[in-house]
Amino acid sequence: MIMSVHRHNSADDNRHSVTAVFGFHQDSDPQALHAPVLVLNASYEPINICAARRAIVLVLKGVAMTEEENGHFLHAARLALRVPSVIRLLEYRRIPHQTRALSRKNILLRDRNICQYCGDPLAASDLTLDHVVPRSRGGLSSWENLVACCHPCNRRKGNHLPVEAGMKLMREPHAFNLHTSRHIMRLMGRSDDKWRKYLFY
Ligand SMILES: [Zn+2]
Repeated sequence: MIMSVHRHNSADDNRHSVTAVFGFHQDSDPQALHAPVLVLNASYEPINICAARRAIVLVLKGVAMTEEENGHFLHAARLALRVPSVIRLLEYRRIPHQTRALSRKNILLRDRNICQYCGDPLAASDLTLDHVVPRSRGGLSSWENLVACCHPCNRRKGNHLPVEAGMKLMREPHAFNLHTSRHIMRLMGRSDDKWRKYLFY
């Protein structure tokens, strides 16, 4: 299936039906499929951020409904769909203590792409993961033992403990729990009017 996305330019786009904009392909912006969407629980409690593509799938499957739109449309076959900015799950979901899988992406997200030794904010491609207690010395690959780290700091630390290398962690690494998620959602939502009303209460 070929999909394309464009910004809808009408000032009064709320009145356009889904089918009325079919075929409108100017100003294509595939990035919109990756735009972040705030996910609310059925109780309106913010619980996650996902990519627009996944949010649309959740809406199409009837698992979630759109609460806010981001002004873009997604075209798929004969359909034009409004790209959501905020969706809400239709059934209340219990959120386990730890909601995210341990992955490089999530470690970088938790550490906000900041080297945890020197404090430099960097592109994901300029960061690596550092085992605080090196693997060679029994350190585990866990939320508590992995941190975002720039390459110079990683080389400097080598197979040492931070204290041996004269380095200090900016903060103790911990699991990416709902509290961390909320903090990040607030950071991301600060500039987004549509998110703010769900995040700051
Ligand atoms: Zn560094």
